[in-house]
Amino acid sequence: MRTDVIIIGGGAAGLFCAIEAGRRGRRALVLEHNAEIGRKIIISGGGRCNFTNLNTTAENFVSRNPHFARSALARYTPADFVELVKAHRIEFYEKKLGQLFCRGRSHEIVEMLLTECRRSRVEIKPDTSVERIEKGRHFTVTTSRGTFESEALVIATGGLSFPKIGATGFGYGVARQFGIAIEETRPSLVPLVFSGANEFRGLAGISIDAEVTTGSQSFRENILFTHRGLSGPAILQASNYWQPGGEVEFNLLPAQDIATAVNENRRSRQRLDNFLKGLLPERFVEVFAARRLPLKPLNELSNRDIESVTTEIHHWRRAFTETEGWHKAEVTLGGVSTSELSSQTMEAKKVPGLFFIGEVVDVTGWLGGYNFQWAWASGHAAGTAL
Ligand SMILES: Cc1cc2nc3c(=O)[nH]c(=O)nc-3n(C[C@H](O)[C@H](O)[C@H](O)COP(=O)(O)OP(=O)(O)OC[C@H]3O[C@@H](n4cnc5c(N)ncnc54)[C@H](O)[C@@H]3O)c2cc1C
Repeated sequence: MRTDVIIIGGGAAGLFCAIEAGRRGRRALVLEHNAEIGRKIIISGGGRCNFTNLNTTAENFVSRNPHFARSALARYTPADFVELVKAHRIEFYEKKLGQLFCRGRSHEIVEMLLTECRRSRVEIKPDTSVERIEKGRHFTVTTSRGTFESEALVIATGGLSFPKIGATGFGYGVARQFGIAIEETRPSLVPLVFSGANEFRGLAGISIDAEVTTGSQSFRENILFTHRGLSGPAILQASNYWQPGGEVEFNLLPAQDIATAVNENRRSRQRLDNFLKGLLPERFVEVFAARRLPLKPLNELSNRDIESVTTEIHHWRRAFTETEGWHKAEVTLGGVSTSELSSQTMEAKKVPGLFFIGEVVDVTGWLGGYNFQWAWASGHAAGTAL
């Protein structure tokens, strides 16, 4: 069978690209190896799909080329996607920090995309495994359901996170086949594992509002103790910037200056750890203070003691050896090198007619709806260029 464009991957970016191509009169065929379309959308945002972020800018993405995403993001904005969601009468709300979630279930977003696909006369073949891709004058894609030919081929197979719902490294294999460079991949938006002995083992489930800094980036949200290290939104955000083996700095009382608080109570005979239990979770203070702080009454603390308390509370540093891996990661850092692609169209510079969109590309968003916005925007960029 011959068509205008074949899109491999029936996820967020692939469906969106197909819709746009179809709107412009192109015959689009989507090949998806899962029996169900858009599985990652369905499980996203805790089942409510955080489908965009109102504050999206290129600064919310990590990529070897931080400017690459700018053009596509500017041409398809969160407001454009919101308009589509409204047109489909999907109820949504802003949870925090510009993050838009469905009020109902994520399925509604998949249904919306499938409805738009029908309107655009997109053909979708689920349960279809791609066996081989060849390029002569056209692309020839051999699958478990026959052979298809097209003028253009779009790779929208996503990244490596959540292999249990069908994530594969397929897109990187296609890039290699065509001599296209790949930036090293690793799990991200993922909990981190402490290096060395875990002195906080007993604290799993406890969370603290903290400011977390890695490199030049700081995020203020909760951190959550796990059995092996730390999770929570601030840690997931930091994982986009953390380097394996590296340290992370924590401000455990970002809203308050501990030296001022102690000085205001300098005549008190209350012991420092008991005083801190009024500011931080008790069990955390018991473990943290016993190891790192002078356990003296406030009226016996020297200026030096207060300096060291300030360092521990506002600049606590901890090293992590690894992440919790692909099974827990929401996204993939790295991917198809942006230096190989047109930032306007997502077409490979070396291989006319071959496009890469969505998470398979070396563009990784922060937690909070940014990754879907990249999927829509890059899908739209390719869809309008096809
Ligand atoms: C648990 C979880 C929650 C998330 N929540 C959010 C959120 O709320 N907001 C947000 O912005 N981002 C979220 N993300 C990230 C977001 O889901 C992804 O960044 C986004 O789905 C990427 O879109 P994509 O189309 O590039 O890839 P995907 O949506 O992953 O689509 C790729 C598709 O390709 C298919 N495929 C793979 N290999 C092949 C092959 N060989 N042949 C055929 N088909 C293939 C896959 O089955 C899949 O359907 C979440 C991720 C996870 C894991």
